Amino acid sequence: MSSRRNFIQMVSAPLIAMPFISQAASSQDYTIEDGPILKVALLGLGGYANIVAKAMQNCKRAKITALISGTPSKLDQWGEKYSVPKSHRFSYDELEKIKNNPDIDAVYIMTPNLRHPEFAIKVAQLGKHVISEKPMATNVKDAQRMIDACKKAGVKLLVGYRMHFEPNTLEIIKKREAGEFGKILFFQGLSGFIIGDPKQWRLNKQLAGGGSMMDIGIYSINGARYMVGEEPIWVTAQETKTDSEKFKEGVDETIQFQMGFPSGAVASCLSTYALNNLDKFYLNGTKGFAEMMPSTGYGPIKAKTNKGELSYPHVTHQTIQMDEFAAIIHDGKTPKVPVDGEEGLKDMKIIEAIFEAVKSGKRVAIK
Ligand code: NAD
Repeated sequence: MSSRRNFIQMVSAPLIAMPFISQAASSQDYTIEDGPILKVALLGLGGYANIVAKAMQNCKRAKITALISGTPSKLDQWGEKYSVPKSHRFSYDELEKIKNNPDIDAVYIMTPNLRHPEFAIKVAQLGKHVISEKPMATNVKDAQRMIDACKKAGVKLLVGYRMHFEPNTLEIIKKREAGEFGKILFFQGLSGFIIGDPKQWRLNKQLAGGGSMMDIGIYSINGARYMVGEEPIWVTAQETKTDSEKFKEGVDETIQFQMGFPSGAVASCLSTYALNNLDKFYLNGTKGFAEMMPSTGYGPIKAKTNKGELSYPHVTHQTIQMDEFAAIIHDGKTPKVPVDGEEGLKDMKIIEAIFEAVKSGKRVAIK
């Protein structure tokens, strides 16, 4: 074991054992040799929060220091499991209490999509950095409100785009930038899975803001942007629905969409809640290609180019994401692919343009 790891363990052991006491000054020195630890309150303790919480156990620079939930029993269970004392467990109604708590730097919002903006704005007003899960909101207007509120409060707004730190993804971006694929002409993004329980929030237009596009199609949108390395200027889109009972008005089951980029490159993508094993990116240029399958799942990500397979070992996406978020917030690090509110807003604008294109059947310009 390296001396660095020993050091981290020496620092983090008392964090687990000792209670948090003061509201005015932190009861701990949350500093390691790499800089200060990002003290994170998890808000919304559901399926994804569970994955993030587990992954954070291996973080070097981020730690769960508080829990916020609408379900008291979850606060107890999670508090025990992650050694978060009662004083640092809050209901949604008690959010105000985080304001002067020195053991919280940032709140990670992992609720159904509709509630991201409302919680984000409140958290910003309470002076804490905001981490929002994707999609950052259910519409462009709310996404902009989140950005404005964070700017006004002088806090950072980050979106949980975990792929922006994934090594294979970053290597392909590097190769494209080095010209290894030549002039980029085409991207294909396939994102989908078969959704289960028809009563879940993901199939509720209000809570989700739509259907598959908001949830999984966003990976193809975001991926097209970082793989091609440009911002799309137009979209066309077509919707197909085989089950109008499960996928009600405003909840998309499947959307095929195309995007055009300033260079002339085009993307052809599929977003669906009706097909499994759909997680593929394909980038083609005049000199070569890159293929990732799976491309955005929790991994291992498998990537190859015309020259052969990439061999980066699997990393837990949420672990590196949270360590990188610590560096962005505490050290002002600029990530290779942005994860800020403006980045999230770009995807929201494209999603709205796609919905408009589905309705009109016409090509829609992205402003
Ligand atoms: P989930 O249903 O498993 O968990 C949602 C949590 O929010 C639950 O704890 C639930 O009790 C709570 N909740 C339910 N309704 C609520 C409401 N109206 N107001 C406040 N809280 C409410 O969902 P999930 O899969 O954990 O997804 C949560 C968020 O994380 C979504 O925005 C989703 O898009 C995102 N997500 C991201 C990834 C990723 O890889 N980045 C993966 C999964 C989910």
